[in-house]
Amino acid sequence: MKPKLCAAGKQLREQFDDCFGDRDRTSDGWLGDSKHATRKSDHNPDEQGWVRAIDIDRDLFGKPKPDIMPDVADQLRTLAKSDKRISYIIFDGKIASSKSVWRWRPYTGINKHLHHCHISFTIKGDEDSSFFNIPLLGATK
Ligand SMILES: [Zn+2]
Repeated sequence: MKPKLCAAGKQLREQFDDCFGDRDRTSDGWLGDSKHATRKSDHNPDEQGWVRAIDIDRDLFGKPKPDIMPDVADQLRTLAKSDKRISYIIFDGKIASSKSVWRWRPYTGINKHLHHCHISFTIKGDEDSSFFNIPLLGATK
């Protein structure tokens, strides 16, 4: 099956693009490369072709660059308590998922994710492109 990014992943990436038009996309990604394919990763398509992960480069601004990805990641983490489309978040040496009741805990994988934020999605996000209600990503309340 042809790989396709889940609707939730497309929507979230679009919100990043809408809010941070000049952002650096160097470390962006969704579809896993051959290195990913050898291990279990949400960047690898499942049998139906669904890819349930995106990477967003840490640099959300052109110059000068206030580093606000930590705040965005934190708002994502908070939203994930109620938005069941988010499976887990890895950023800056930390991971948050429902397993840790959405608290940050140290991430011990090889890639510490210092340059991008990884967001994995559940199957609930396959076809659900609802707006992610995140203040730093365009939510109005
Ligand atoms: Zn990733």
